[in-house]
Amino acid sequence: MRLSRSLVPTLKETPAEAQIASHRLMLRAGLVRQTSAGIYAWLPAGYRVLQNIAQIVREEQDASGAQEVLMPTLQSADLWRQSGRYDGYGAEMLRIKDRHDREMLYGPTNEEMITDLFRQSAKSYRQLPQNLYHIQWKFRDEVRPRFGVMRGREFLMKDAYSFDLDQAGAVIAYRKMMLAYMRTFRRLGVQAIPMAADTGPIGGDLSHEFIILAPTGESQVYYDAAFETIDTSPSAFSFNSEADLERFAALMTTPYAATDEKHDEAAWAKVANKREGRGIEVGHIFYFGTKYSEPMGLKVAGPDGSLVVPHMGSYGIGVSRLVGALIEANHDDAGIIWADAVAPWKATILNLKMGDATCDGMCEDIYAKLKGNALYDDRDERGGVKFNDADLMGHPWQIIVGPRGAAKGMVELKRRATGERVELSVEDALSRIG
Ligand code: ATP
Ligand code: MG
Repeated sequence: MRLSRSLVPTLKETPAEAQIASHRLMLRAGLVRQTSAGIYAWLPAGYRVLQNIAQIVREEQDASGAQEVLMPTLQSADLWRQSGRYDGYGAEMLRIKDRHDREMLYGPTNEEMITDLFRQSAKSYRQLPQNLYHIQWKFRDEVRPRFGVMRGREFLMKDAYSFDLDQAGAVIAYRKMMLAYMRTFRRLGVQAIPMAADTGPIGGDLSHEFIILAPTGESQVYYDAAFETIDTSPSAFSFNSEADLERFAALMTTPYAATDEKHDEAAWAKVANKREGRGIEVGHIFYFGTKYSEPMGLKVAGPDGSLVVPHMGSYGIGVSRLVGALIEANHDDAGIIWADAVAPWKATILNLKMGDATCDGMCEDIYAKLKGNALYDDRDERGGVKFNDADLMGHPWQIIVGPRGAAKGMVELKRRATGERVELSVEDALSRIG
């Protein structure tokens, strides 16, 4: 993209309404704009990041064997009456009436809808297990939307729902998701720790929140540094081996990890390498047995012919919250530091002398070679403005083209994360970027 013709409205001033770094930087770097309280429009650079995150989430869900679907945002109140949740859900639910006075709602989550879809076609235990997910907008009328996209009212979530014949099957589904989540967050460039969460009336220990450390997190968290060295790669664990999944689950639940609500000082005192700080919840996985399948009448024929009520779990990732959370985890005074995997563009090209034939020619050549992976700063602006905006926007690589270097066929290549700058030929610079 050429910056001179793009809607990337960077701001020099710090917006007064933003209390935390990620919110300030998302506004300043022109990623989003608020359209009403807790509701955001995603501008080109921000939308590219959102899509990159969604794609990594999708690839890891697919690798685990889950199937992607797309359910609507609008749901009928009747479905929620069947599960018994409609009246109890409270003010977070946005309730709407259509022109025929039918009660609708903007989905805050999709357990009811997926259970309904599944019961229409699942007849036999032979169709189990299955896991279905979608990446779709949710609406929750949060009392206090804040911190930009981190606690919005409309937000993008990946939510998956597993169906198994019995609890033992559901445990396997749960472990698969836990493994998929660890791989997802690793690819996004952050360390996420699974922490035991409340299971409510279901009981047991099959509910975990995935927390990443950042100074502005909403809860205090404690964990053993042992988590940081666990290898979760496909060479260490396979989704197809129950023994692998069991070994993985044991590794993930043995070292100490707790949010402040569940913190145990005595157990904490025994941890050798402590990590402590504020944490942001980026995902939540939950086994809930027959909580929805039972009241909604989902039954399949079991192996002996009698009807069985499938066991379910649900698995969420806050896709839009992650954009803010990744910035909280990776930024400095100058701006955002994107991991290569999620950056809106791999590189930016800074033309320090627009109108100079050599600089222009070199920039055009690099821009063409990077095939859509670069943002070309072709604005008629001073170098200082371009440097500041490039640091603010957090492109992993900056290719700096000035008249002196260009005359010798050289550019400067800057790595945003380290600040390292080297002079290279165009060819060498491009091969470094990869
Ligand atoms: P929280 O305690 O932060 O309100 P939750 O327990 O209500 O989260 P879930 O229902 O488990 O969240 O939703 C799954 C994921 O969706 C969460 O882990 C979080 O990353 C994300 N999420 C939840 N609420 C919001 C919101 N208001 N804005 C952005 N993301 C959200
Ligand atoms: Mg909530």
